[in-house]
Amino acid sequence: MTVLDPSLPAILGGRPAWPAGPPDWPRFEQNVVDTLIQAAHDGSWGKYHGPHVARLTDLLAAAHDCPYVHLCCSGTAAVELALRGLHVGPGDEVVMGAYDFKGNFQDVLALGAMPVLVDVCAANATLDPARLPPALGPRTKAIIVSHLHGGIADMPEIVRIANTQGVPVIEDAAQMPGARVCGKIAGTWGDAGILSFGGSKLVTAGRGGAVLTARADIAQRIKLHVQRGNDAYPLSEIQAAAIGAQWPPLNEFNQRRAATACELAAALKWLGLVAFQNRPGDSQPGYYKLGLYYEREAFGGLPRETFAAAMRTEGVALDAGFRALHATHSSRRFRRASGLEHATRAGETVLTLHHPVLLAGPQAVAAVVEAVAKIARCAGAIQAQATEC
Ligand SMILES: *Cc1c(COP(=O)(O)O)cnc(C)c1O
Repeated sequence: MTVLDPSLPAILGGRPAWPAGPPDWPRFEQNVVDTLIQAAHDGSWGKYHGPHVARLTDLLAAAHDCPYVHLCCSGTAAVELALRGLHVGPGDEVVMGAYDFKGNFQDVLALGAMPVLVDVCAANATLDPARLPPALGPRTKAIIVSHLHGGIADMPEIVRIANTQGVPVIEDAAQMPGARVCGKIAGTWGDAGILSFGGSKLVTAGRGGAVLTARADIAQRIKLHVQRGNDAYPLSEIQAAAIGAQWPPLNEFNQRRAATACELAAALKWLGLVAFQNRPGDSQPGYYKLGLYYEREAFGGLPRETFAAAMRTEGVALDAGFRALHATHSSRRFRRASGLEHATRAGETVLTLHHPVLLAGPQAVAAVVEAVAKIARCAGAIQAQATEC
């Protein structure tokens, strides 16, 4: 019988750095359960119209200091509705980063419009404002900007450039609910902002989304689109109840996640994983994921996917990031407004650490660092095993 060395990486038969793995999501939260039980008792769970949607609408409006909040069935639908609110249709162009959530690209196509891809910042894969001016033209109807993997987009500069051209901005804060972006809450910088309450997100009802806007014309156009005797893209009462219970503690959770992300970033940069960076300035990022650039040379040339698989075997929830939009769609589907080298690099090298890891605190930091160090030490053997199979 061969006795394996427990200090080996788990993928080579050693002991996992974090045998229990990251906590499940959503977590058990007593106040969410209490709210749902209350809704079950009073019958509001099963009604078309009850108190919860109206209450959540008011709560989000107050939290964002924003007059119009439109709740809907997903973040993807929220982006579509925001585009519709801006009258985007066939023949129009919508500018976005070439590294972004795929659904945003598809929302633009679904409206018959053309995505125009611009390059992203090298430091955090969010839309690079310096690449914006040449992308804007007479057909540009909107710019979609997403905060991604703890990376904050440069909203002041993006909005400034957009305003000089009279182009509206949609701020996608699906990954950063409640975050502070250069002195304002995420989702309130543009003409419209969106949130997601999807099943893995920081505030979840399994499904759900919201559009935030201060423009009455956008709010009105969205309302007209969804009202077909009934709301065609609804958020239900029971979903709204669950979301409402999660909003008050969000800020504290965001702070805890950010503190762990900061510690991890400091420890991992010496090991070949460089965390997404933000320029300072009255910001408090939200961490749906922590984005990390994978430096393959630091791991003996081990492919990113093999590294991520080895990390998951250690119990650390780590995945490859998005694929760059221009690398996965036919060039007939979009227009390219600039070189896209930083987006290409992000699509090839970004790893994302899932947020439940960040709430586990010092234990998580120790486990992640141990796992990375083990894998780095045995990268050659992992690669040999991977090529054998
Ligand atoms: C998750 C996500 C969305 C869409 O949210 P769903 O509710 O899953 O449709 C949009 N944009 C970004 C950046 C996201 O991460």
